[in-house]
Amino acid sequence: MTARIIDGKAFAEGLRGRIAGHVQRLQREHGITPGLAVVIVGEDPGSQVYVRNKAKQTVEAGMLSEKYELPATTSEAELLELIDRLNNSDRVHGILVQLPLPSHIDPNRIILAIAPGKDVDCFTPESVGRLTIGLPGPVSCTPLGCLMLLRDTLGKLEGLDAVIVGRSNLVGKPMAQLLIRENCTITVAHSRTKNLPEVVRRADIVVAAVGRPLLVKGDWIKPGATVIDVGINRVAAPEKGEGKTRLVGDVDFEAAVKVAGAITPVPGGVGPMTIACLLANTVTTASLINGLVPPKDLTP
Ligand code: NDP
Repeated sequence: MTARIIDGKAFAEGLRGRIAGHVQRLQREHGITPGLAVVIVGEDPGSQVYVRNKAKQTVEAGMLSEKYELPATTSEAELLELIDRLNNSDRVHGILVQLPLPSHIDPNRIILAIAPGKDVDCFTPESVGRLTIGLPGPVSCTPLGCLMLLRDTLGKLEGLDAVIVGRSNLVGKPMAQLLIRENCTITVAHSRTKNLPEVVRRADIVVAAVGRPLLVKGDWIKPGATVIDVGINRVAAPEKGEGKTRLVGDVDFEAAVKVAGAITPVPGGVGPMTIACLLANTVTTASLINGLVPPKDLTP
């Protein structure tokens, strides 16, 4: 048996097309252009690539993109001042501060300063609380992307056993909340979980968000299960030449693809969904700020 490969790249492309349609409608019917402000402090090359991609895709969807590239010497007070300006800007409906920040800035102080209604990364306690009790609002981008792929692959998720490996605030915990809302039965595993292979073997749905290359082995997967690999790990690839690297997930794809029913590849699975869901969240917050119901296909 070979698993169906879940093409996150193609799904994300379709999603961005739908988002562009919603943006046009908001402009035409309400005179609203959703605006996303992305703030980056310092010169981390990886973060700069992410921020450039985010800005490009924001513009391609017909939205307003504001990019703030600040020097690494920016003080916490200066950054807080910028956040305050963005909180009060009518043009901006989503604020994203690219992490990590330089060590002299406390990320929690910055996150707590973002107006909850514009928190498109879903980091503030208000956003986390709204997600937990099922109120409308932005949802953590990567878990939202995983949920969309799962629904597209499986249809109804009700009653399925889901094992999430990883309990970070960014991925594992919000993923658990979303799957609880889908009426799955959830297990959240982590570094202290006993008998992890046994736990994973029970799952109809496995979401791996660990950051350990190829941790989840093929024989941990229940035959026919759906596997969502969030991990992005850069490993040495001597077969490509000296000093070369390649990206792998947290799941041993080559082995798991022979057992699973469906599986996301790395790259090309969950990764492309994250930025698309950031845009989706900006349409959601732009709608809510203006007293409109957010588009149903962009929310959980
Ligand atoms: P974190 O480091 O914040 O969390 C990792 C989690 O994995 C922790 O809960 C940790 O447990 C658990 N863990 C670590 N080692 C083991 C182990 N051996 N067995 C079981 N559980 C373990 O990572 P993130 O959630 O931020 O990211 C996870 C991965 O997803 C990374 O590779 C990251 O690059 C990727 N990622 C990809 C995105 C995308 O767009 N595709 C977006 C965000 C992240 P404990 O809590 O006990 O320490």
